[in-house]
Amino acid sequence: MANKNLQQKYDAAQERVAELEKHLGLMKNELDGTIHRLIFEKTPGGMAVISLTGDIIACNSEAAMIMGCTPSDLQGSDTGSFYNNPADREHLRSRIKNDQPIRDHHLSLTRMDGSTIWVSVNARPIEYNGKPAALASFFDITEHRRALKEIELAEIRFEALYTISEMTNRSEKEILNFALEAITKVSASDIGYIYFLNRGETELTLHAWSTSVMKQCAIERNLQGQSVDGVGMWADAVRQRKAVIVNDYQNHPEKKGYPEGHIYIRNHANVPIFDDDRIVMLAGVGNKDSDYEEEDIRQVQLVMDGIWGIIQRHRSNAELQAAHEELEEKVKRRTAKLEEVNQELAILNINLVKKDREREQAKTALIRYERIVATTPDLISLVDRNGVYKIVNNSYLKMFKKERKDIIGKSIKELVGPEVYEQVSKANMDKALAGETARVESWLDLPAAGKRYMAVTYHPVSMDGNKIDYISVEARDMTDLKSNEEALRVVADRLALATNAGNIGIWEWDLATDDLHWDQKMKELYNVGPDEFSGMYEAWKSRVHPEDLVEVERQLATCIEQKGHIDFEFRIIHPDNSIHVIQTAGLIQTDSQGIPQRMIGVNRDITKQRQMENELRRLASTDPLTEAHNRRYFMERLTAEFERCKRYNTSMVLLSLDIDHFKRINDTYGHPAGDEILKALVTLCKITLRTTDVFGRVGGEEFMAALTQTNIVAGEKTAERLRQLIEQESVKTHGHSISYTISIGITEIHEKDETIETLLKRADDALYKAKNSGRNRCVVI
Ligand code: GH3
Ligand code: MG
Ligand code: MG
Repeated sequence: MANKNLQQKYDAAQERVAELEKHLGLMKNELDGTIHRLIFEKTPGGMAVISLTGDIIACNSEAAMIMGCTPSDLQGSDTGSFYNNPADREHLRSRIKNDQPIRDHHLSLTRMDGSTIWVSVNARPIEYNGKPAALASFFDITEHRRALKEIELAEIRFEALYTISEMTNRSEKEILNFALEAITKVSASDIGYIYFLNRGETELTLHAWSTSVMKQCAIERNLQGQSVDGVGMWADAVRQRKAVIVNDYQNHPEKKGYPEGHIYIRNHANVPIFDDDRIVMLAGVGNKDSDYEEEDIRQVQLVMDGIWGIIQRHRSNAELQAAHEELEEKVKRRTAKLEEVNQELAILNINLVKKDREREQAKTALIRYERIVATTPDLISLVDRNGVYKIVNNSYLKMFKKERKDIIGKSIKELVGPEVYEQVSKANMDKALAGETARVESWLDLPAAGKRYMAVTYHPVSMDGNKIDYISVEARDMTDLKSNEEALRVVADRLALATNAGNIGIWEWDLATDDLHWDQKMKELYNVGPDEFSGMYEAWKSRVHPEDLVEVERQLATCIEQKGHIDFEFRIIHPDNSIHVIQTAGLIQTDSQGIPQRMIGVNRDITKQRQMENELRRLASTDPLTEAHNRRYFMERLTAEFERCKRYNTSMVLLSLDIDHFKRINDTYGHPAGDEILKALVTLCKITLRTTDVFGRVGGEEFMAALTQTNIVAGEKTAERLRQLIEQESVKTHGHSISYTISIGITEIHEKDETIETLLKRADDALYKAKNSGRNRCVVI
């Protein structure tokens, strides 16, 4: 409100001045006229006519009053010394020179008494006494300005305080920076600073100087811990514990000065900020236009108190937060610890349950063990170091036909008799007492039980792990087992005898491991040294004749699959590359679930037998004189071929050969020469015929040939070639060169031939025809 009134008054004054000036302007720069002088004198503002050089030519008494002197003092003085800012003087002069009016220019002047005032100046160029000059009117606006400044400051303060109240969420640094600018502004200062004090108020630590200082100051500032005692008068506020104002710093008697480059200090005020009775901060301002007053202190105090409140809130918030976090951390640690403990508890629980279960299991095992001890056919006892029975099981009682009370407390010697005791018990007891486990198997003549084959084990028993306190004696009646074993050995001996005599090798094949166990005979059969056989299936396999291997393995696989047996022959190759025929027989052994476990079997070398058989077979089918197939064999083969032709509808030609007048050859050259002819004929036939053809001697000097897969034309050609060959060859024997001929009857298999006889008959007919038509010829029917 005050501001508004002031503004109105000021505006009204300006208007009046303008009117007066206008009026004066009409007076043709003449101030001499009474009326003019009157107006000049009575005008409410200061008026002056000023030469271009700045001298006051004329002035009214108001002007002198404003400047703090008498009009005569003012008149003739040089305005140059009035200006506080030389720039103002330059501005005014240049405008007047350029014939430009000046309106409401505010400037600061030094009065005659040295005090400073602010004036508003209006001026216009005039001609005075024929010379250019300025007519200036001005009035004191110091109060007005102060009031305005006051309002402006009030606004700044309000704004600062308001902003401070809103700053709770800013960082401490931000708040302090703001505070620094705020105290500078609210005190209308140019510079400001904030220091922190330590708890003992002995050290000052700079937070910051205001930004304006930073710009003006060239020296490095010492930010950290300056001793309160060591610094100059600017820390008096701390020492005196109250705000201190120094308005004329430069002339202050206690001034120590500051380092070169430091900002110039005109005046200065600083305020200690208290928290209860402790100084926590030192806030300072400086270089205000006018003197510092209590009001400035109050404003700085106000801002800083607000700031300290916020900082404290901040710090307590931070402490609270930290405390909260610490608490949370503690809770977290406690929770983790609890969890750990819980886990340990759980593990403990599990272990307890496990222990319980183990105890339960141990109990069950003990019961089972006791039951086994009670019911086992083995004789179980515990004797002390003197061989006196402490515990015996039921089998003991049964074996010795005694009651428990008759055994417990007696010694081994008393129970088994001195003979057995000396024979076995004594020595083994001594061994067990020395910490050894002793075992003996032997025929014993026991009282009440008779001759028994017993296996007895003596275990040392120690209660403390050092000294032997007891001996546990376990005896197993192996009489039956021993008898069985002996019986088995007899069987085995017999088997060995048999296999040896029969040249039979025995093998055992573990199907899971492929281990192959061979007895000595097997190794002989395969001609391997005692250490040469690896004992693996693969080693045997490598010895099987490659042509037989596939079939052999197929047979084995089938046998395993069907859990059956094998009985077949195959060839093996000995290290000397000789081939041997092995006959094998074997069977599968399964486990209780019927799964094949191993195969056991025998091998017998039947090479010689097979050779003999083959020889016999060969002999049975061969004509001994000519070594051609005999009639039986030829007929067998012919029948087979006949069947095949019928089945597959293939062709076949049958030749029936007969030597012409053979009787006569015999008669002429003798029977042995006749034999040679027969042999020579067979040789020629074998040469001429194909290996697939079947040829045989079917009678004394009669032969037959079945040409398989041959048509009649080709058959006839072959027959004719043979006939001619024989006709041309002569047989040199017994001092003669004998020529001979043959007749051949030829026929082809017909679709209508139901039996072999029809075919044979036709061949015979053809031969007959050949004989009848002159011999030494081929005839086809
Ligand atoms: P043809 O031209 O009519 O066949 O007159 P052939 O004399 O050959 O006929 P025949 O059937 O009358 O005589 C067969 C003779 O073959 C009678 C017999 O002594 C003779 N012979 C049979 N087997 C043998 C033998 O093994 N050795 C010898 N040297 N002669 C044999
Ligand atoms: Mg004949
Ligand atoms: Mg004949």
